[in-house]
Amino acid sequence: MKFVIAIDGPAAAGKGTIAANLVKKFKFAYLDTGLLYRAVASKSLDEGVKPEIAASNLTQNDLMKSNLRDPVISKESSKIATIPEVRSCLQSFQIEFSKKSGGVILDGRDIGTVICPDADIKFFICATVQVRARRRYIELLGRGVKTNLAKVSEDIIRRDEIDSKRDHSPLIKATDAILIDTSLLSIEQAFKMVEECVKKELKKSDP
Ligand code: C5P
Repeated sequence: MKFVIAIDGPAAAGKGTIAANLVKKFKFAYLDTGLLYRAVASKSLDEGVKPEIAASNLTQNDLMKSNLRDPVISKESSKIATIPEVRSCLQSFQIEFSKKSGGVILDGRDIGTVICPDADIKFFICATVQVRARRRYIELLGRGVKTNLAKVSEDIIRRDEIDSKRDHSPLIKATDAILIDTSLLSIEQAFKMVEECVKKELKKSDP
């Protein structure tokens, strides 16, 4: 069986939580592609090398660093994600991952449009800036990061802008992606909607 789930959407819309629940439910392999961009940003800052060089030398250890979710790395990752050479370095790894046998889930910004245009099912997860900022703020507080809601909101707006306006692989809903607005939904409600769609599609591909 081969089944690819593509999940895209802006920061803090709920992609990661939905993907984690899908992994639990369907036991599919999962790639958080944002982590690759975060690891490149962190390596480039730590080692003082150009992002292109960091991307072409990325190792498993770079993906394990504990600071990858820090706001400074979030900010830097959307900057380095605009560089075509960085994107092409990371692209082949993502495409290889998507070809694994069995079920796979990839989440990011360009999965349904560029990395897996032929995915079996695509989701575009969104929510209002206010809701996303509050979620991210609570998450950061829980991790002991000192910040405030206004700052988190500003960062999210700036990243949305960079991600959706860049020339290469911008954040955009694939025409055949299912749009899920999680602004007014609980995690359980959002997951239920996604789960139902996946189950229906799985049945079609393996009746
Ligand atoms: O998903 P996450 O917020 O961890 O991603 C960090 C940054 O990496 C995003 O703001 C975006 O600029 C970049 N990214 C991307 N393409 C992807 C995944 C992430 O450009 N497929």
